[in-house]
This record gives sequence, structure tokens and C-alpha cells, in this order.
Amino acid sequence: MCRGPAVIDLRRHNANFCAEHFVKFCRDQTAKAISDHDMVQPDDRLLVAVSGGKDSLAVWDILIALGYSADGLYVGLGIGEYSDASADAARAFAEQRGLTLIEVDLVETYGYDIPAGSRAAKRTPCSACGMSKRHVFDEAARNGGYDALVTGHNLDDEAAVLFGNVLRWQMPYLGRQRPVLPAGDGFPRKVKPLIRLGEREMAAYCVVSGIDYLVEECPMAAGNRHLAYKEALTDIEIRSPGAKFAFYHEFLSKAADRFADDETTGRDELGICERCGSPSESEVCAFCRLAERASAAQPVQLSRRDGGA
Ligand code: SF4
Ligand SMILES: [Zn+2]
Ligand SMILES: [Zn+2]
Repeated sequence: MCRGPAVIDLRRHNANFCAEHFVKFCRDQTAKAISDHDMVQPDDRLLVAVSGGKDSLAVWDILIALGYSADGLYVGLGIGEYSDASADAARAFAEQRGLTLIEVDLVETYGYDIPAGSRAAKRTPCSACGMSKRHVFDEAARNGGYDALVTGHNLDDEAAVLFGNVLRWQMPYLGRQRPVLPAGDGFPRKVKPLIRLGEREMAAYCVVSGIDYLVEECPMAAGNRHLAYKEALTDIEIRSPGAKFAFYHEFLSKAADRFADDETTGRDELGICERCGSPSESEVCAFCRLAERASAAQPVQLSRRDGGA
């Protein structure tokens, strides 16, 4: 199909692509995901959650290329050198393209970083991080009046989450695992436009498009169950090209609705958190409780470190 030199072969599509056609392919797949799932409208103002990694920078780049108005949101997690490097990548991308990047630093704004938050809340780092990011994303989207929050979750991410939920038959999660979460009760609409593209494609898109992304993964991810699920699915994909895509997309088209009854959005009859004004089931929301415990614990750890060796 392409006369130009091939930069990538996609076995699931039985095709080789030159650079130009591969970029077009990725943008077309994203546009198709957006229209198939009615994710956003042409004049929506979008806020893209940006980590400095390949997926979030690629989705931002693609949305701009498709003509959307999209700002970036970077959350400083305080995870050592990883966070420094990820902030640099996000800032450089935005600066080079004249795009707006909103930055929220957890330590500056809430007085804790992810390692401290994880210890204080006795949660895994990824659980404390997920909760913190969700809170910052929701608040920034609300305060900025954005129509939707965009994340860079790709096909591999979503297939791995689905695999984990199926392994344990997590019914409420299965009911909720959709690429669009509608807005409601102070939560912005959340969309995942990269569900038709895999990890390898996103890395190739960045290389071909000259996007300088942070290759290093977050050091806290080690031991994360999803990594094992991703590897298992990738092994299956090698033997059976297209299996990953079918697993996830046929779940969406054939099975997701069957779990709708088990869906608990956690959004019914929510009150307002008395500290931050976010929707919450209790007087003080789970995020504010985490932030309070973690910021109280942080100075103790700092002085111990100072007084120690
Ligand atoms: S791997 Fe875990 S701790 Fe690191 S950024 Fe992702 S969710 Fe946060
Ligand atoms: Zn071509
Ligand atoms: Zn709160």
C-alpha cells in the first residue's frame, strides 16, 4: 500500500506503513475512536492529563492535529528524578508547540509527595497516586471550565485492566470499564481516545513525529499487577495477532452492556467535601484525608532524614 520506506509493520492490520501514512493511520484511528464512542464535540475545550510519557504527549499532539482546542495538565508527583525528568519532557513539548500547560505540584499545593502519601495512607504508591491524580484532574477541569478530561490510556492499558477485572470477575469494574465516563455532579467527562492504538504504535508515533518523550517508566510501577497482565497479553498477541484488540473492543461492543446493572459509579447522592468542595460521600473526601495524613507525616520524615546519617 505504501511506496515510501516502511517504518513499522502492524501484524494486526497485516500492513507496513511509511512514516507519513503511519502518522495518518494513528490520527485516523484516534478520530474513529472519538466518533464511535461520541467522546467529544468539535468545539469542546479539552484538558489533557500529561505525564511526559509517550501516550499522553502523543494524544495531545494528535488532538491538536485533528483541530481540537486542548490544554495540558501536569501533576508533579514528587517521585524523585523520574518526576523531574517527566516535568521537563512535558514543558519542552508544550513550549515547542506554543501550547498551554497547567502545572500542579503535590508538595507545593498539598504538602505531600507520592512516597509519603503512600506510607501515610498505607496504600500502594499507585493507589495513593491514582487517587491524588484523579482529584487534581477533576478539580483542574472544573476550575478551568473544560468540557472533557483526556487521558492517554492506550489499547494495551485498557486490555490489561479488562484482563485483571475478568480474572477476578470484578462486576462493578466491568460495568464501568468504558472509554467515556459521562460528566456529572462536579466530575468532568473523561475520555480515552487512544483505545484503538497500542503501546508500540504510540512509541513509534512519537519517534516519527519528533516528540521527545520520557522513555523511563515510573520506578513505583515495579510489581504493579497490570504489568504482568500486559506481558501475558503481549505473549498471546505474538501467537495470535489481533487478539488484544478483539479482547477489548469486542468486550465493548458485545459484553460491556451486560454488566451495566453492576455498575456503581459512586456518584449517587454525593455531598460536598467540607475542605475542598469536591463531590464526596463523607464530610471530608478520601483525597483530603489522605493529604492531611500525608502532609502531617512528611515533616517528621524530613527531620529524621536530617538528623540521621
Ligand atoms: S506507576 Fe504508579 S506511582 Fe508511578 S505514576 Fe503511575 S500510578 Fe503513579
Ligand atoms: Zn506510505
Ligand atoms: Zn476534599
